[in-house]
Amino acid sequence: MTMSTADTPVPAGRILIQGAHLLTQDDAIGDITGDVLIDDGRIVEVGPGLDATGATVIDGTDRAVLPGFIDTHRHTWQGAIRQVGTGWDFPKYRQHIQVTWGPQFTPDDVYIGNLVGALGALDAGITTLRDESHIQNSPEHTNSAISALRDSGIRGVFAFGWPSIDSNKWMLRGEATHPEDIRRVRADLLADDNALVTLQAMLRGPELSTLEVTTKDLQMARDLGIRSSMHVGNGPWGPEFRGIGSLGEAGLLAEDLLFIHCCTSGDDELKMLADSGAHASVSAAVEAVLPGLGAPATGRLLAHGIRPSLSIDTEASVAGDMFNVMRAALLAQNAGVSIDPASYESLPQFTPADLLAMATIEGARASGLAHKTGSITPGKDADLIMVRLDDANLLPCNDVAASIVGAGHPGNIDTVFVAGAIRKWAGRLTGVDTTAIRRHAEQSRDRLFSFDLVDG
Ligand SMILES: [Zn+2]
Repeated sequence: MTMSTADTPVPAGRILIQGAHLLTQDDAIGDITGDVLIDDGRIVEVGPGLDATGATVIDGTDRAVLPGFIDTHRHTWQGAIRQVGTGWDFPKYRQHIQVTWGPQFTPDDVYIGNLVGALGALDAGITTLRDESHIQNSPEHTNSAISALRDSGIRGVFAFGWPSIDSNKWMLRGEATHPEDIRRVRADLLADDNALVTLQAMLRGPELSTLEVTTKDLQMARDLGIRSSMHVGNGPWGPEFRGIGSLGEAGLLAEDLLFIHCCTSGDDELKMLADSGAHASVSAAVEAVLPGLGAPATGRLLAHGIRPSLSIDTEASVAGDMFNVMRAALLAQNAGVSIDPASYESLPQFTPADLLAMATIEGARASGLAHKTGSITPGKDADLIMVRLDDANLLPCNDVAASIVGAGHPGNIDTVFVAGAIRKWAGRLTGVDTTAIRRHAEQSRDRLFSFDLVDG
């Protein structure tokens, strides 16, 4: 039986997507019109004219099929207070969310924040979410964050950060080393690196703590066998504390590190990053709308041979979808060029296809998950999205990649697979009680809003 997704039951088991525009992100296959065979959660075969025996066939006419988007850095716990900070600058964000509300978050607030954040991500075609969780106020907060990722059905990387209590201790060059509770999480909750939700470390790094602290923290993460991320090139702290540079001079740079922002990191530091094989995450939307971080480093990273991943950062300030981030990367670079025309010659330009690669396969590499996700490759888990190219905002589709990057939005995402399980079907999330989740999120939001915001 061949089905379009409208008004048909959600299929399971062996599935063949037939006759779609495949933007595979696999260099050996390329962009083709063809089929994808999914079985037992994995991509079995990719190509034209595949045998449909025993499979439920999904009609791929007028559909683009891509690997799911990968958001390499989101503070998901802020999901239920999304958009409260639209228009805020960075000091205001920090004062209100991390200093005022962070200490008031209960484990329940963390749970519902993470759940609505992850569900919003799935709705937008993000199948892998690196949850940069700096809300480890107690072991119960940690457990709640992990439970919500699991309950959402998304592929989650839980990046264990620090508490949002006593923000000055944890954020302003503090001497405290990383919370020891990460050892419990590794041993008891997230020991399996093949599970759908896995563990990494969100370290403060040399700009939010010190090089000495970071050296100890990195040693701990590497002893636990997990990868680490850290925020660097954060506004004035970038040139002052040189997060990447100081780690490079200490011989600590390696492929297992993900550097977030890099806005004000020096060119010498980006060269060190490239030489080490470490990764970068550009949060172009947040960097563009939240004055204080610096301009998105997309072009500067590319100039050093680094293909960055992309990330949302926080829904308190920006939309939780990759369309917005991809367009922000383009807008921010070209806005910079309008101020400094000479930079057009010095920075590499990037295309819609490049941005889709950053939003998929580069995110998988940055997350240490390229063996499982990030491209439509036989043997990888079936993390896939189907985009409707015949929607009113995209027809007639003149260039698949350009249409998606230039004009796509989460409403164009018809179907979302995570490890072969369908999490969105015919434009709606599956198995989600939206009414109950909305009520829960509103209760959390109302309680948090009862605490007065005081400017720092
Ligand atoms: Zn961040």
